[in-house]
Amino acid sequence: MKLGKFSFGTGDRFSHQGEAQLRAIMKANKSGLDISPVWNKSNREHTYVHTHPGDVRIEADEAVAKLGYKGKYFVDADHINLSNVAAFVNSSDFFTLDVASFIGKESKEAEVNEFVSSSQKYIGNLMIQGIERPIVVTEELLHQIAAKFLAATQQAADIYNFLVKKKGKGNFITEVSMDEVETPQTPVELLFILKMLADKGVPAQTIAPKFTGRFNKGVDYTGDVDQFAKEFEEDVLVIDFAIKEFGLPEELKLSIHSGSDKFSIYPVMALVIKKYDKGLHVKTAGTTWLEEVIGLAIAGDDALVAAKYIYEHSIGRKDELCAPYADVIDIDDTKLPSVEEVNSWTGEKYANTLRHIPGHPDYNPNFRQLIHVAYKVAAEMGKNYADLLEKYSEVIGSCVEENIYDRHLKRLFNL
Ligand SMILES: [Zn+2]
Repeated sequence: MKLGKFSFGTGDRFSHQGEAQLRAIMKANKSGLDISPVWNKSNREHTYVHTHPGDVRIEADEAVAKLGYKGKYFVDADHINLSNVAAFVNSSDFFTLDVASFIGKESKEAEVNEFVSSSQKYIGNLMIQGIERPIVVTEELLHQIAAKFLAATQQAADIYNFLVKKKGKGNFITEVSMDEVETPQTPVELLFILKMLADKGVPAQTIAPKFTGRFNKGVDYTGDVDQFAKEFEEDVLVIDFAIKEFGLPEELKLSIHSGSDKFSIYPVMALVIKKYDKGLHVKTAGTTWLEEVIGLAIAGDDALVAAKYIYEHSIGRKDELCAPYADVIDIDDTKLPSVEEVNSWTGEKYANTLRHIPGHPDYNPNFRQLIHVAYKVAAEMGKNYADLLEKYSEVIGSCVEENIYDRHLKRLFNL
């Protein structure tokens, strides 16, 4: 099973927007592109929303059937590990093996030595086509990289081997992710991570490193765009080298766990993948859920009341809702509007405050980040929330489609 050159991961907390998401991708593909949709949902999201991995499969299959989509599509068991992968085996055909928590864990000395001795040929000035300056590899650096990443890559191999037993070799896509950490991985680290994966027989088709800068949920990139551009380009070239050198799958490409809406680095990625004619996987998270709230606000009446209820109940439980996302949100409390103020807003004002249009006078990234983590509040509304999604499906669906097509795909693929 092979992932296409371009793929776009969409999360959908409440499993109602599969069709709208697919419509956006099909619209982009009309211009000659072939972007494969990937529906991703993590174990954490399933737990909060009380959904099951099988629900995502049903949603994807139904959307595809309804719209007569003929291309490839996938269902991603996002950020799984050995303790929770089993529940995803039947419904997923794309697995994101999250091994970040194994970074820095100790490995057996013999394994470290084996890695270091098998990497001797790279010691010195390693030239990688396209990268101007040589990468300096020393024995010490190899030891450091082994100490950091050998256990994590072994964990990836353990999960992969479990999946091979359950699903059979070649019947699923493997992604390895190390993005949910503080320290970015450098291109040289990525190079040897890929060697380790190849050595251990993990045929990764996508790899999600941690990049420089902050990837906060639902808002734009914060950090040094030039530094990101340099890293991203070097990573693309390192992957190219690794495919040929270590015999990894030809499809291997970067996966950007964007946390959604990293608009300022989209053009950078677009430029690099075009320059080298490379593929890309971009994973977005909660954008769709935010569009549901925007759609409710615009719809007015009981829907606007629900959107206001969600804000009121999220500001009251801010600490609890933010806790699991502490590393990936930055909310300035002083810039959050009061409940009274929000309750006085029109639907338009609410939508403009939440919708991610940088530069719009009403846009408030603090408000947006808080709503982003507040899907638990909507989940607790249960049937009331689901009924509203049904009742206002048209306006909400058009918000979801517009967001993915106009704000994401257009920027990423120069449409
Ligand atoms: Zn991630």
